[in-house]
Amino acid sequence: MLLENLRKEVLEASLQLIRYGLVTLTGGNVSGRDPETGYIAITPSGMDYEGLAPEDIVIVDGDGNTVDGKWKASVDTRDHLYLYRHKPSLYGIIHTHSPYACSFAMLHQEIPCCSTTLANEVGGSVPVARYTPVAENAIGPAVMEVIGDKNACLLANHGVIAVGKSVRHALVAAVMLEDGAKVYHLAKCKGEPIPLEQAEIDKARNVFLYTYGQNQ
Ligand SMILES: [Zn+2]
Repeated sequence: MLLENLRKEVLEASLQLIRYGLVTLTGGNVSGRDPETGYIAITPSGMDYEGLAPEDIVIVDGDGNTVDGKWKASVDTRDHLYLYRHKPSLYGIIHTHSPYACSFAMLHQEIPCCSTTLANEVGGSVPVARYTPVAENAIGPAVMEVIGDKNACLLANHGVIAVGKSVRHALVAAVMLEDGAKVYHLAKCKGEPIPLEQAEIDKARNVFLYTYGQNQ
């Protein structure tokens, strides 16, 4: 099977989204990019993740043409391709409608960086990309306007995009963003959360990038 491991990674991340409560039914999508061919493996459009097998993940080329797979690729495939084209460091992209983050997206409210979780995993406050209609290939350009070097942003009135140097990395960003959004919401119910200073955000970010975990 073409790009079997990448397909498995995409499928595993999709199942994790369900386990962590970040997607409902067929919502959201996951992709990973193969460094050698530049092909991307992406979830099929409108199918329950729990019934998928690795061969159900669709392989498309940089122009969005299906290279291998029997299903139609996600409706947001062109947005994933746009982001990969404009951010060559990316190898994984995840889109969700996770509820706590989404509630800020509906208010067009950036999530301030008041926790080391957001500093580590997103790289600071979580910006909001302007509203774009769904399935019109306009999400990619809107995300590029705000995401910078961060690992996630909100999509106004819609959801979340999380990105990373691997599918797993994008998954961690998506899960931790939702966790950070939830904790910020809880703190906001009790008072005014205190943002971290930029120097502290940078320090926390560097620990995550260069020290944390088992990477040497
Ligand atoms: Zn969506």
